[in-house]
Amino acid sequence: MSITVVGTVAFDSIQTPFGKAEHCLGGSATYFSVAASFFSDVNLVAVIGDDFTNEDASVFKNRNINLDGLQRIAGEKTFYWSGEYGFDLNVARTRETQLNVFAGFKPELNEKQRTADVIFLANAEPKLQMDVFEQCPGSKLVALDTMNLWIATARESLTRILGKVDLVIINEAEVRQYTEEANLVKGARQILALGPRTLIVKRGEYGVLMITREAIFAAPAYPLETVFDPTGAGDTFAGGFLGYLASRREASDREMRRAIIFGSVLASFTVEKFSLDRLREISLREIQERYQDFRTLTHFDDYEV
Ligand code: AMP
Repeated sequence: MSITVVGTVAFDSIQTPFGKAEHCLGGSATYFSVAASFFSDVNLVAVIGDDFTNEDASVFKNRNINLDGLQRIAGEKTFYWSGEYGFDLNVARTRETQLNVFAGFKPELNEKQRTADVIFLANAEPKLQMDVFEQCPGSKLVALDTMNLWIATARESLTRILGKVDLVIINEAEVRQYTEEANLVKGARQILALGPRTLIVKRGEYGVLMITREAIFAAPAYPLETVFDPTGAGDTFAGGFLGYLASRREASDREMRRAIIFGSVLASFTVEKFSLDRLREISLREIQERYQDFRTLTHFDDYEV
């Protein structure tokens, strides 16, 4: 099965308590497509400027990533984001965002991109997400990510698109910000009441909660000793999760739970180094080994009650 992702391919400058990286490869669609491509064919829909070199694009090479939708705008610069983290790595502070090529981005999906089984609307202005959603009426599953910026500046259009998609992947702080509800489960129910079947709440180093109308599933984050840079963890999680799910025949509760673990495994690699430096060097075998470690980490169920 195949996935289409629409989002940013970017350059990031990042400062964490452990070091900094200037003008390195980033972007929601970049992390997502590399992670998802371990399991499924990915159509990448994004825009770059002429400062994005072939060397930068080599991250997509020799993977199942179709680049027909990677549009280059001559004379303009690639999306740029600069952010920093304190010792609480769950909170990113944006220093600067330069939309550059992304400001005028109005993707027109081709047949192959429109008819993918799974569509991921990566973090972007909700109107752009709606525009893409409307181009893909036949897809089996549409998932969306968002961020505090759009909750603060585009609340109404965000509410409209939340009412259309099947699955929402969102940070814990963003659930509270959007719903103005301190209790996460109650906040999640408010978002589910808008229409989505499934809500996945990312809780940084505390892991993930998947909430549907029928059930709640919780997974921890992989307990790493070296967390270097949390940038991209959310998009990598989404890529691992949706990539695995798209490779299966059905999105049953069992497969969704496995997908959560694969998403968490992929994200745990991303944070070990800056940018995509770790993600791009791992193999499917390492992913599978860490999946087994997750099983050991969470297994406790022998006691008869
Ligand atoms: P996350 O997975 O949430 O850590 O997302 C990290 C990526 O999001 C970075 O590589 C940035 O380039 C990208 N990003 C930051 N701000 C925005 C924005 N306003 N719209 C789209 N992408 C963004």
